[in-house]
Amino acid sequence: MGTESAGEPTTAIWARVRGRLRNEVGDAAFKSWLKPLTLRDVHDGTVRLMVATRFMRDWVAAHYGDRLRELWREEDHSVRAIEISVDPNLAEAGTAVAEEPIDMRGRTRASGPADSLDDDISAPLDPRLTFENFVVGKPNEMAHAAAQRVADAKTVPFNPLFLYGGVGLGKTHLMHAIAHRIRQTKPDKRVIYLSAEKFMYRFIRAMRYKDTMAFKEQFRSVDFLMVDDIQFFSGKDSTQEEFFHTFNALIDENRQVVISADKPPFDLERMEERLRSRLGWGVVADIHPTTYELRLSILESKAEQLGVAVPSKVLEFLAHKIVSNVRELEGALNRIVAHSDLVGREISLENTQELLHDLLRATDRHITIEEIQKRVAEHYAIRLSDMHSARRARAVARPRQVAMYLAKQLTTRSLPEIGRKFGGRDHTTVMHAVKRIEQLRATDAGFAEDIDLLRRMLEG
Ligand code: ADP
Ligand code: MG
Repeated sequence: MGTESAGEPTTAIWARVRGRLRNEVGDAAFKSWLKPLTLRDVHDGTVRLMVATRFMRDWVAAHYGDRLRELWREEDHSVRAIEISVDPNLAEAGTAVAEEPIDMRGRTRASGPADSLDDDISAPLDPRLTFENFVVGKPNEMAHAAAQRVADAKTVPFNPLFLYGGVGLGKTHLMHAIAHRIRQTKPDKRVIYLSAEKFMYRFIRAMRYKDTMAFKEQFRSVDFLMVDDIQFFSGKDSTQEEFFHTFNALIDENRQVVISADKPPFDLERMEERLRSRLGWGVVADIHPTTYELRLSILESKAEQLGVAVPSKVLEFLAHKIVSNVRELEGALNRIVAHSDLVGREISLENTQELLHDLLRATDRHITIEEIQKRVAEHYAIRLSDMHSARRARAVARPRQVAMYLAKQLTTRSLPEIGRKFGGRDHTTVMHAVKRIEQLRATDAGFAEDIDLLRRMLEG
């Protein structure tokens, strides 16, 4: 700790300044805003303080900056300024981003686009998750278009945007992309992106420090609020309540809200009715499971980004085998690229199969009846609902039997369980279907080939 000012150690002065401020502002505000300040040193007439996050820095500068300087000057006349810098190492959750200090005489030294993002409450953005890197296909085109609209519109186009879909299908990617785009094109707008979990954590902390006013102010003064994975609020009543108020306040002020969840608003469990209904007021866009075509384009795009030539056979193989989600698809590609880099061998279908052996086996075990139904329905171009329907027309009955047969072959489900998944059919119906398909396989080579193809696709 520097002791440039003559005489008393700066630590003693700092302790007195803090003591006086505490008396002036009260315990709660002191705890939230002033206690977390750390004295770095006093250098060249400038008192240098550190704090964990950008938001805290701005808040302290705006609310206590002048008073801090006055009090310090009363102790030491040589002090002319106070400077607060952000040191993310001081953060508990480690989410702040390091940057330039702010100068308390008024202006921010580090001004510019980055300032529009409130790194304190906002989680850091992954620079790779942009619109440019998002591959659009049938399953996600609606969600993508809605996200782009929100990011590019001059005025709020609809509110909220509610994105939903299964794990690893691109919800977080789209939200980051919105934030990046606004950062670029509307640097004066305040954008907060955070997980529902973090929202709750912030809220609870604010309550503990009896500082909910500051909490409300932080959230209600933004132009774009994006909360990810809101299913996390399920059963958390007081957080839901607070979120509901924040949400309403923002919407009333015509600020854009973007929400994501793993289900549509009305399927969110243990969620207050009025919140659920309010969440569905704007545009609700779902991201469907990937198709083979989308998986292939994503792989092509990622391989290009990695700057490696991957044989199309390998990409096709991966797109066939790894159907669960995009994250796993990416993981598999990264693995084979890293491996070939490491051992200096070209990527081939053979070494890919070898390398991903464990991963492919793991996906085998996860085949569900729903997946089978979906695949088979796609394959025969019938509606998914026909898997459950009572229709007996050959065009739907045969594919349904194929799906039952594959469910028996590829899952560990019992005949009655399978029957239930097919619109509550009896186990004897399933048994009959299995027998029928076995017969057909034995007598019709073309049919047998078709079934084997389906099976290979499902087995991954
Ligand atoms: P979610 O939030 O829905 O669980 P993420 O947005 O975290 O999923 O996506 C998981 C991974 O897959 C991320 O690395 C993301 O970049 C990638 N990803 C998902 N969808 C796409 C897409 N359409 N194009 C490119 N990458 C994608
Ligand atoms: Mg996510």
